Amino acid sequence: MYVHFCDFCDPQKKSLNESCVKKVVDTYYGEGIDLEQKGEVLFFFAFNSRSIRYPEELGFLIAKESLEYGSFQKEYDHEVKKIKDFSLFEYVIYLSGKLGEEESEISKILTVAHECKHLIQDLGVENSLLKDLLLKKYFKLKCQYPNKHYRTILNRNMFYRNMPSEYDAFRESKRMAFKICGKENTEKFLDHEINEHKNRLIYTRCDSAGLSDEIVKLTYWEHTKAINVKELFDFKKEFGNIWNKYNQAIKTEIKKISGKSGEQRNEKEKDLLEAYNFLCSKS
Ligand SMILES: [Zn+2]
Repeated sequence: MYVHFCDFCDPQKKSLNESCVKKVVDTYYGEGIDLEQKGEVLFFFAFNSRSIRYPEELGFLIAKESLEYGSFQKEYDHEVKKIKDFSLFEYVIYLSGKLGEEESEISKILTVAHECKHLIQDLGVENSLLKDLLLKKYFKLKCQYPNKHYRTILNRNMFYRNMPSEYDAFRESKRMAFKICGKENTEKFLDHEINEHKNRLIYTRCDSAGLSDEIVKLTYWEHTKAINVKELFDFKKEFGNIWNKYNQAIKTEIKKISGKSGEQRNEKEKDLLEAYNFLCSKS
């Protein structure tokens, strides 16, 4: 395990950020999961306040065996060059600069634990990460969003957060925060964030660019608040169910897309086809 900070990360806050990563990794170790043993993992604190994939994300996981790995490497070429033997890392956990600047330890623990859980999922279920990306791309293509902008944002988030991989990671992040920071502190923090974002939303103009961010943030905290950590969630089973349910439909869709010429395919179709071919090449 290795923690890398981009040059622009606040030097004062580095040790605090590093200690949050360590707390999560140590807690897993105490539960019998040795993340340091499970392939090489790089925790990458970037200076960008926005993630390359979804602007609202504070972090995400990239496996070496994924399509996104190449684009990540390209995007962070300058930083990647500074990391000795970057190619040795099987997984990269990207943590946005926005998270690095956060004052609250709870928020950092939630994000680090969430991404670590995606890693554990991938280690436990073969190609879960690639299959999950394929499923998300398939749903993205098939979902007919309502026209209203705000409904679109809400629907997109609700659908992502209820995917087995995300539900599992959200639940896990809250469980970890309870364990590391205490139940009462975590609940208090969540209530505070919800109130804060509700207040901010009131003063955000309907046509402002920041509106979707505010909605996303508020629903993020509300979603985390609503999760019951005691409820059992069998990721392997739930993921298997959704995969089996849509596997055939995806194949049918791929056949349809493959029948079209390159110019006839829209962006979402190209995305799906690319993810599908990539998965096939790996399994
Ligand atoms: Zn996630």
